[in-house]
Amino acid sequence: MQYGYLIDMDGVIYRGSELIPGADRFIAELREADVPFLFLTNNSQRTRRDVATKLKRLGIDADEDHVFTCAMSTARFLAQQKPRGTAFVIGEGGLLTALHSNGYSMVDKEPDYVVIGEGRTFNFEMAEAALGMILGGAKLVATNMDPNCPTQTGMRPGCGALVALLESASGIKAFSVGKPSPVMLRTARKQLGLSTDQTIVIGDTMETDILGGVQQGYKTILVLSGSMRREDLPRYAYRPDKIAASIGELNHAKLVREFSAAATPPAIPINGAGRRAQPLVEAR
Ligand SMILES: [Mg+2]
Repeated sequence: MQYGYLIDMDGVIYRGSELIPGADRFIAELREADVPFLFLTNNSQRTRRDVATKLKRLGIDADEDHVFTCAMSTARFLAQQKPRGTAFVIGEGGLLTALHSNGYSMVDKEPDYVVIGEGRTFNFEMAEAALGMILGGAKLVATNMDPNCPTQTGMRPGCGALVALLESASGIKAFSVGKPSPVMLRTARKQLGLSTDQTIVIGDTMETDILGGVQQGYKTILVLSGSMRREDLPRYAYRPDKIAASIGELNHAKLVREFSAAATPPAIPINGAGRRAQPLVEAR
């Protein structure tokens, strides 16, 4: 079977501005074998071009077409829900560009949506303005619900933490479009032209990458080069199909063999001691 990949970046391809050893080799292998793949990120700050530039500087052979951000997912989703709508945005370039190029106008009163993304520009006045608009009827949309995000020096509050402030103040729950939302994971799979069975997610976070993949019925590979430790895994009710120390351990041809072998159904469906399974409805 042909397979393709949805690959998280932070904690999988790089940590901060450092390449994870072997990530460049794995991606080069995919390109050489013409295997479809997309980089998926829950960070809405950068445009896909900015992301592709960062990847190139790290030595990853990727271009804009290989990048799918939660900002793009959010903008496309809103354009489908309400074409040529309006939004009040708390976020940065990646989100603003994506909304603009999907026909949205940015406004500071009576928007259709209040859209929250990552950013360092957040302040109390913005929160107050957003709250007024939400209470006035604007719908609250989150690019993602990640509570925090690892940085080189520790942690910073994530989009989910800013959204929680507005949810708490308004009493209204946000709709989130980023991982693990099926909106993002299904759109990405379709963009690659893959079926559910052909899609493999590689990620470092159980709550987003692996949960989203499991819910969609994709194959999932957890890498331990980011936010998760092996000893944390027993507390989850779901598990990845495979665990690797890092993406540097993975090999495409070997993964295809492993997943294909696991997917092969028994030749004859049997029930109990060698009897054929009885159909639920008798054939006439
Ligand atoms: Mg990650």
